[in-house]
Amino acid sequence: MKLIIVVPCYNEEEVLRETTKQLTSLVDSMINEGLLSECDILYVDDGSKDNTWQIIEELQTGNQYVHGLKLAHNVGHQNALWAGLEFTVDKCDAAVSIDADLQHDIHKIKEMVKANQEGFEIVYGIRNDRATDSAFKKRTALSFYRLMQKMGVDLIPNHADFRLLGKNALQALTEFPERNLFLRGMVRLLGFRETKVYFECNDRFAGKSKYTFRKMFNFAIDGITSFSVQPLRIITLIGLLCVGISIVEMMYILVAYFQGNVIRGWASLLFSVWFLGGLLLFSVGVVGEYIGKIYKEVKRRPRYIIEKRI
Ligand code: UDP
Ligand code: MG
Repeated sequence: MKLIIVVPCYNEEEVLRETTKQLTSLVDSMINEGLLSECDILYVDDGSKDNTWQIIEELQTGNQYVHGLKLAHNVGHQNALWAGLEFTVDKCDAAVSIDADLQHDIHKIKEMVKANQEGFEIVYGIRNDRATDSAFKKRTALSFYRLMQKMGVDLIPNHADFRLLGKNALQALTEFPERNLFLRGMVRLLGFRETKVYFECNDRFAGKSKYTFRKMFNFAIDGITSFSVQPLRIITLIGLLCVGISIVEMMYILVAYFQGNVIRGWASLLFSVWFLGGLLLFSVGVVGEYIGKIYKEVKRRPRYIIEKRI
């Protein structure tokens, strides 16, 4: 069985050598045990601004497992991972995606491969706890999963992008035509036989998180708007509620009119103008989010551009 380990890297010069060392000894042992016949480590350089690509080139010349894919500019973790996965289709029997920073327990890859050989097409890596996360990251991550659940998006809590995909799953996934990628949601739509592997999450080996708050925020918005039309329904409900309130207000105005108190009501009138104005703007914003998606999908731009292959 041939495995490809796909590792997206963005400004990871500080961790790549250590990651390669650890992955290499793991791959050696899996091959010696006869678990695998062949294995590649595929680094996808997501348009790094530091020496990441030079290090990948250097590692590639001295290490039979290492291969590299350099994207011409930073397209984000999900797109970089997609580039790697799409590249592996037809070249392996299974692919494992894993972060470059050694936060994911690489030794669990062995369990994943075994599960795959027992017939599981998809194996999710799930973190046991969030002890190593900052309080902020923990809170935002947990509320993200809760919100997604409320919005009706099927996600596995505490599963990020550490997973094994078998040949069929890879094939099926890469046939998804969409441009707004939210892989952990998309994989749930495949419906193959699946199982879970639990791991303890380590500290980042070196360097800082490459997921800035802005990237995290965009990721969450993308996740919701790519998988749920719930926000549109909520708007419809708010709209209906407003109509109800305005009918009640209309009755009040009529009563006030017949009682001759026409000056009164100015305050409530102004309030409604502002209230409805705000609500309309908000609604337009959310609708705009979906139109933005349609716009992107319609353009069908390439998700990434490969600059070099080694
Ligand atoms: N990453 C990437 N492109 C980006 C941001 C991150 O390829 O624009 C990669 C990064 O190199 C790492 C993985 O995605 O391998 C996860 O990122 P990170 O560990 O910084 O995120 P965190 O663990 O803090 O959520
Ligand atoms: Mg990390």
